[in-house]
Amino acid sequence: MQEGVFKASGHLEGFSDWLVDCPGCKKRFRIDKLDKKGESEYQCPECKEIINTQKNKPRQFNLMLKTNMSATEDEPYYAYLRPETAQGIFVNFINVLNTTNKKLPLGIAQIGKAFRNEVTTGSFVFRMKEFEQMEIEYFVNPADAASYYESWVRERFDFYINKIGLRKENLRLRKHEKDELAHYAKACTDIEFMFPFPAKDGSASGGCWSELEGIANRGDFDLSEHARVSKKDLMYFDSEKKEKFTPYVIEPSAGVDRTFFAVLSDAYHEEEVQGKTRVVLKIKPELAPYRVAVLPLLKNRPELVELAKNIFYDIKKRIPAIYNDTGAIGKLYRRQDEVGTPFCVTVDVDSLGDGCVTVRERDSMRQERVAKEKVFDFIEKGN
Ligand code: ATP
Repeated sequence: MQEGVFKASGHLEGFSDWLVDCPGCKKRFRIDKLDKKGESEYQCPECKEIINTQKNKPRQFNLMLKTNMSATEDEPYYAYLRPETAQGIFVNFINVLNTTNKKLPLGIAQIGKAFRNEVTTGSFVFRMKEFEQMEIEYFVNPADAASYYESWVRERFDFYINKIGLRKENLRLRKHEKDELAHYAKACTDIEFMFPFPAKDGSASGGCWSELEGIANRGDFDLSEHARVSKKDLMYFDSEKKEKFTPYVIEPSAGVDRTFFAVLSDAYHEEEVQGKTRVVLKIKPELAPYRVAVLPLLKNRPELVELAKNIFYDIKKRIPAIYNDTGAIGKLYRRQDEVGTPFCVTVDVDSLGDGCVTVRERDSMRQERVAKEKVFDFIEKGN
């Protein structure tokens, strides 16, 4: 987006990290991520040297990536890759309001790429320069903002447990202190997940509570600033109460990549089965790449393969399914366990006679004979 948008939103001024250079290994770190060891003293996570911020002064670095949209170098026209999807929603707020005729509360949601010039990328997909965000800007009457904020925090916390299937003990809420609030925020609560990074004390077994999503009360900061800079009226008129005001905004802001990481980490299990390690991804069926795998027990029996394929083609019309006959049955089960397929359907010689197949459930490994016409209902409805 063009420079003016980020001038108004405060990102040109305020969207920056305080960075400090380690005098030992010369690497650069975000000061808010370092372990404090004393007054003005922090420990370098790489070489363990003490960084004294009186001697090694922290400097502010803007996180936005700048580009020149002009055809010529001498008449530059600067634009920035968006560091959050939110600003596109704010500058379109009036368009959406006028074209949809909605009343408040009004939510606009968007998913898409965001870009930040992060100093320390890594920890798998936890921190990248190019990542995928999902944001909702929920526009409300200022008088209702505090209660909507509280209810969005609860709603989003429940989402990760009930919809995504993360374990409750791996999730917590953390309220931001006044001095860590972003420049636009009146209040903010992070939903944190116990990510499988080494703990801060260096112990390999521990994990690390880190942000999965932030829910902020942005007040009327963004709409007011865009209105001030663009000189456009971005207020809302409540026709019932006959009052005009700038809406407040409650913003749940989540990362697709971090959610993906949390799901993998939470669902990954290693179990001992008959003296061997079984890797199984215990994800919710809705998130599994396949809901069911259809496997013929013997692939050199054409009538058995044909029956298995017919069952597969029939199920595939309704739910994501995979057919696989490239190994012995034990190996095929393990592969499906690893990608989290909730059910395997095995077609064997008996199936040719009695029309039944074996359905195996991923987590319990329990097997049941089910009539082939009933397989879909058994998998989807449990009967
Ligand atoms: P952090 O403190 O970890 O840098 P943040 O507070 O800057 O995160 P927000 O600005 O609240 O993050 O962004 C909303 C969400 O976008 C985060 O909760 C996270 O899921 C995701 N996100 C932010 N930065 C990155 C990144 N560099 N790589 C991957 N995901 C990110």
